[in-house]
Amino acid sequence: GRRVVVVGAGMAGVQTAVALREQGFRGTITLVGAEPHRPYDRPPLSKAVLLGKAEGSAFEVDFESLGIALDLGREALGVRPAEHELDTAAGPVPYDVLVLATGAEPIRLPGTEGVPGVHLLRTLDDAQRLRPVLARQHDIVVVGAGWIGAEFATAAREAGCAVTVVEAADRPLAGALPAEVAAPMTAWYADSGAELRTHARVASVEPGAVVLADGSRLPAGAVVVGIGARPATGWLAGSGIELGADREVVADAYLRASVPDVYAVGDCASFPSARYGERLLVHHWDNALQGPRTVAANIIGDTPTGYDPVPYFWSEQFGRFVQYVGHHPAADTLLWRGDPLGPAWTVCWLRADRLVALLAVGRPRDLAQGRRLIEAGTPMAPELLADPARPLKEA
Ligand code: FAD
Repeated sequence: GRRVVVVGAGMAGVQTAVALREQGFRGTITLVGAEPHRPYDRPPLSKAVLLGKAEGSAFEVDFESLGIALDLGREALGVRPAEHELDTAAGPVPYDVLVLATGAEPIRLPGTEGVPGVHLLRTLDDAQRLRPVLARQHDIVVVGAGWIGAEFATAAREAGCAVTVVEAADRPLAGALPAEVAAPMTAWYADSGAELRTHARVASVEPGAVVLADGSRLPAGAVVVGIGARPATGWLAGSGIELGADREVVADAYLRASVPDVYAVGDCASFPSARYGERLLVHHWDNALQGPRTVAANIIGDTPTGYDPVPYFWSEQFGRFVQYVGHHPAADTLLWRGDPLGPAWTVCWLRADRLVALLAVGRPRDLAQGRRLIEAGTPMAPELLADPARPLKEA
C-alpha cells in the first residue's frame, strides 16, 4: 500500500490521518510530531486547561485501532521532494504522499528571548507553565489585545490576578476587525477589571517590570506575549516547496503544495479562495478540521476536490461567546443587529444584497443562520436584517 506521512501532530495532522481512514484509505499512515505529548487540542489551553478546570485536552482518537502510527518527539528538519524523503533528527522517513501540517508558532517580543517570567501561549507546556503563575495571583502584563491576549486576560482575571493589557494599536483586535466593530469590545476589558492600554509600545522587559516607550513602568510578576503567530515552516527552507509572503506553504485550490505528492493544510498553509477572490491564510480551528477532509479525499480519489470554505471561528472572552463566519474585507455595507453596548449583538457585512460575513456576540442562532445564508449566497433585505427580533433567515 501507499505510505502517507503527515508532519505535525496537531489538529490538522490528526484530522488528516483520521479522515484518510474514514474515507477508506488502506495504506500506512505515520504521524510525525515534534512535541512529546499525545496529540491535543489547542483552544482549551487558553480556557479550561489554563484555569485548571481540565487537566489536558488530548484528542479522543484511538490511533492504534485506526492503524495510525504515532512518531512523537520527532522534529522534521527538511524534505527532499525528488527522493520522496522527509529528514528528521532520527533519520530519513520515506513517503509516497507527504502532508505538511506543522501549524504556526507564536511571534516573540524582540529582546525577550530567555528572559525569565516572559511567557507565550501556544503549547500544552506553555499552559502548564502558566497555571502556577495564575495561582500565585501575580500582577500580569499581557502584550497584545488580540484573540489570545483577550482570552488569557479573561482567565487571569478569573484567577484573581491584576491584569494590564498593552496594545500598540488604538484598539483591541486591530488586525482582525474594523474600528467600529472593535469599539464596544474596549469596554469589556474594564468591565472585567483588566486595564487596557492602547497606543502602548513595549520598550523593554526588566525583572519584575515592563517598560513602555513613553517611560512608564508596569509592575509585572509575569508577562504573557500574544502578538500573533506565523507558519512553522522554517524547516522547509531550501526544500524547493514554495513559501508565501507570510512564510506559509503556498497551496493550490486542492491543498497541494508546489511539488508533487505533497499537500499542506491548517495554520501552516494558504489557499486561493474563489469565493472571496483572494488567497487566505486562516489561523483557526475550523480550517484545521475542514481542510483535512479535502486533503484525504484528494490523496485517495482520482478527481481532485477543491477547498473553498466559508471560514469560521469562535472566541470566549470576558464572559462572552464571540463567533465570526465569512470574510469581510470585500464588503460594502456594515449593519448592526442589536445594541453594541448590550450583552448580545451581531454585525452583518454585506456586498450588494448578499451577506458575506457576520460577527455574533452571544447570538449563536444568528451565527448558525448566517453561516447558511453566506454559504448559499441568498439575497437579503438589509432593512429587515437590522431588526434583532426578526430571525436572520427571514430577512
Ligand atoms: P497546530 O495546532 O499548531 O499543530 C502543529 C503541530 O506541528 C504542533 O504540535 C507542532 O509542535 C508540530 N510541528 C511544528 N513544526 C514541526 C516540525 N518541524 N516537525 C514536527 N512537528 C512539528 N481557534 C479557534 O477557532 N477558536 C479558538 O477559541 C481558538 N483558541 C486557541 C487558543 C490557543 C491557546 C491557541 C494556541 C490557538 C487557538 N485557536 C483557536 C487556533 C487553533 O487552535 C489553530 O488554528 C489550530 O490548532 C491549527 O491546527 P494545526 O494542526 O494547523 O496547527
